[in-house]
Amino acid sequence: MTIINELKLAKELIKFPSVTPIDAGIMKFLEKKLKTLGFKTTVLEFKEKDSKPVKNLYARLGNKGPNFCYAGHLDVVPAGNLKDWIVNPFKPSVKKGYLIGRGANDMKSSIAAFVSAVSNFVANKRKFNGSISLLITGDEEGIAINGTKKVVKYLKKKKEKIDFCLVGEPTNPNKLGEMIKIGRRGSMTGRLSIIGVQGHVAYPQRANNPSTALVQILKQLKEIKFDNGTKDFQPTNLEITKININNSADNVIPGLANATFNIRFNNKHSSSSLKSKLNAVFKSITKENKSKFKVEYMVSGEAFLTKPNQTTYMIQDIIKKMTKIKPKLSTTGGTSDARFIRKITPCLEFGLVGKNMHKIDESVSLSDLKKLTNIYTNILENYFK
Ligand SMILES: [Zn+2]
Repeated sequence: MTIINELKLAKELIKFPSVTPIDAGIMKFLEKKLKTLGFKTTVLEFKEKDSKPVKNLYARLGNKGPNFCYAGHLDVVPAGNLKDWIVNPFKPSVKKGYLIGRGANDMKSSIAAFVSAVSNFVANKRKFNGSISLLITGDEEGIAINGTKKVVKYLKKKKEKIDFCLVGEPTNPNKLGEMIKIGRRGSMTGRLSIIGVQGHVAYPQRANNPSTALVQILKQLKEIKFDNGTKDFQPTNLEITKININNSADNVIPGLANATFNIRFNNKHSSSSLKSKLNAVFKSITKENKSKFKVEYMVSGEAFLTKPNQTTYMIQDIIKKMTKIKPKLSTTGGTSDARFIRKITPCLEFGLVGKNMHKIDESVSLSDLKKLTNIYTNILENYFK
């Protein structure tokens, strides 16, 4: 039986310049690797108007239940200025106990760790009761419309049953073992335009300055106390990210004022409950100011929480045993593909230390990579016990 070495595989994966949404041949490469372990594989290519096609992979070993799935992404963010790196980001090399390269942390090494774990597990236990599957996307770092979202839809349609999913994103803030993610906050962006009447600054009675309403609105938005947080979640927070009045003259009252805000919300709210709350503010203030408003919302995900179950606690115990740290069950941080996967199966997230993801000289400590492989191997052994 082939044993796949996690460091070797991590290096091989990093060599592909799979900068989102470019595949660069990486999905085929991983598919071949998984076939050597006996997986049945399907490459799923999705595209949409105005977007490049994206390759995704679903692979399954075994045809019985329960089906334990690992999810992750093989696309990476751009490297930035190559000259700033101490190694070529797509020619990974090991320096002082760290593997350096784009994707070393987020998250090619984690995928390598899981594939290596499967090879260890299968070598010890050729026959096990159930299936192991991988859901790998090439569209996580980008707009994420042709990735996990569509794979989940496809799996649902095919009635593919997944009993538990482990998402391998980097979850630990500083040390391996600190944090498991069991949910995520929701995220919604709003683009607000206030429409007034343009005019001469000396004759304000003939104009209606939209900035007056905008300033009042933004002040009020910042003053809303959405909630105090919950046992599992931080308080909901709104940040104004852009304020823009496109005016080239100093003696003209502008006709239009724009602002953009983002709100990270917990499961006391939904995107639609927030929209009504915010729209009420826009309505009343623009009414007072006799101006008009337009708002466009983009929801990247609703807040969700996976209630910890037996598998969650089993995984928590294994991590504690292997790292001597009891991982916190957390919902902090940005969104991840778990927001799509949780629609078909309970899931949690556990991977590497995320300290230097997306940075220059992105790296993974070799000892963490080894430990993560052992943790994943142990999880499989316990899950199929
Ligand atoms: Zn990632």
